[in-house]
Amino acid sequence: MISKVINFIKSPLTLVAGISLLATFVIAFLVAFLALGFGAPSILFWPFVVLAIGIQFILFSIFNAPLQQPIQYIPVEPEPIVASTRCAVCDVTNEVPIKWGQENKYECVSCKVSNILLISTKSTQSTIIISNPKVV
Ligand SMILES: [Zn+2]
Repeated sequence: MISKVINFIKSPLTLVAGISLLATFVIAFLVAFLALGFGAPSILFWPFVVLAIGIQFILFSIFNAPLQQPIQYIPVEPEPIVASTRCAVCDVTNEVPIKWGQENKYECVSCKVSNILLISTKSTQSTIIISNPKVV
């Protein structure tokens, strides 16, 4: 129980909230002292403190309202990879966008025959970039 209280006091959220509340009260007292300095009757000191605190909370809610809006994420379509491939019938080169997870059918621009783009893989040895190549 005590460790939970200590963890709550040590948490960054509590620290920020504490500093914020302290600043709010300091400003409220300054406003009340200023009001007395400008000739307000001393009986109005605490009403000025309460009023200044209330105004600060209202201003805080107004200026932080845009931050309370949920963030909307817009899905972004990735740029398609376009493959240069030759038609299986007439051997003319076609530019075909690769769609992942779909059958990549296309019609040849020359002979209008329907083709399917097959994607294969190939391995090669990885190489190391030379950091300071010397040109001889
Ligand atoms: Zn063709």
